[in-house]
Amino acid sequence: MKALGPIPAGYSAIDGELAIGGRLASALADEAGDTPLFVYSRDLIAQRIADLRAVMPERLNIHYAMKANPYGPLLEFIADLVDGLDIASIGEFEMAREAGYLPREISFAGPGKRDEELQAAIRAGVTLNLESEGEAERALDTAKMLGVTPRLAIRVNPTFELRGSGMKMGGGAKPFGLDADRVPALARKLVDAGVNWRGFHIYSGSQALDAEAIIESQGHVLDLAAQLGAEAGVEVPHLNMGGGFGIPYFDKDTPLDIAAVGAALKDRFDNLPDILSETEFAIELGRYLVGEAGVYLTRIVDRKVSHGTTYLVTDGGLHHQLAASGNFGTVVRRNYPVAIATRFDAPPEEEVNVVGCLCTPLDRLADQAHLPRAEVGDLVAVFCAGAYGASASPSAFLGQGPACEMLV
Ligand code: PLP
Repeated sequence: MKALGPIPAGYSAIDGELAIGGRLASALADEAGDTPLFVYSRDLIAQRIADLRAVMPERLNIHYAMKANPYGPLLEFIADLVDGLDIASIGEFEMAREAGYLPREISFAGPGKRDEELQAAIRAGVTLNLESEGEAERALDTAKMLGVTPRLAIRVNPTFELRGSGMKMGGGAKPFGLDADRVPALARKLVDAGVNWRGFHIYSGSQALDAEAIIESQGHVLDLAAQLGAEAGVEVPHLNMGGGFGIPYFDKDTPLDIAAVGAALKDRFDNLPDILSETEFAIELGRYLVGEAGVYLTRIVDRKVSHGTTYLVTDGGLHHQLAASGNFGTVVRRNYPVAIATRFDAPPEEEVNVVGCLCTPLDRLADQAHLPRAEVGDLVAVFCAGAYGASASPSAFLGQGPACEMLV
């Protein structure tokens, strides 16, 4: 038997069935008209952001990294709860615009920005986090051509990484950002060129659950920003400190202690060097804001036994939930939190493998899981599906098509 990840707080059983936002899983599937479906809870997103704000310094802005979940109604909903939006492409910009975001609330980070993307962002007044000297040149040329003063910041490839993070985005050779030692020269050049200078973006990693590691990294970010500003002889009007707040996906993962992170940051903000005294600070979070607020519901279409192993074969799979299958950046596959939604409060009774409907052995949703006995027609819930689910999975694979999504 293999352990399942921890079911996030905020989910309960009503009449023995999983309820999301007070509604039964089976009713949600009926309303969607089809399975599989992703269900995102407004209440859980709002609660998460309120809890975060309660412990973070007031001066800290919270941005949403929409790469985690770009579902339109969710984007619209979260707009009123956050202070800004981080995008990674002009495709995301279009979605953000449709959801009502203003360009000045948006910053655009990501390597390989095409000329058309630079043009659209500069024309609209989006802040560009420049990833290289070459990109800076193209941005300056584009702005000149358009006759617009561009809002530019430099994304710094920091000298450190976020310890314990699932995905390291700094320290050593990276395609992201400009190596720290080359930043002062470019910052000086941009300020001299008369751009609307927006300061630095320093992103060191994702999916960290250790508060001490985040505190350490945030300390390094503040030190580095102050040092780079001083070396360049420029002000630091804005500092995007990155994020990296993780969520518990797997057995023995424990939630991040945000109170400790907030307290340490307050302390740092109370003792800022002069060069950062007027700086506006932001963190950008994706999965922490929305990951645990989403559930993927998929229906069992077959129950079969092979060489003594029971398989629950569902109508979903890795084409919607690549991360839960263990094929999105994990080295060793471990089980996400998974439950039988339609028998949510029944005791575990048997060991089963929950698989998807794709004809590949990679399509696994839960291995050797101890679950209540389930039959064809029951719904399986895969939790932690609010981030890097629908939009981060190959929905065209094998012609299966995308899953429904709903915000409740
Ligand atoms: N910002 C940047 C620049 C990123 O690269 C990422 C993730 O890779 C994020 C934000 C969001 O990360 P997470 O969803 O872990 O908060």
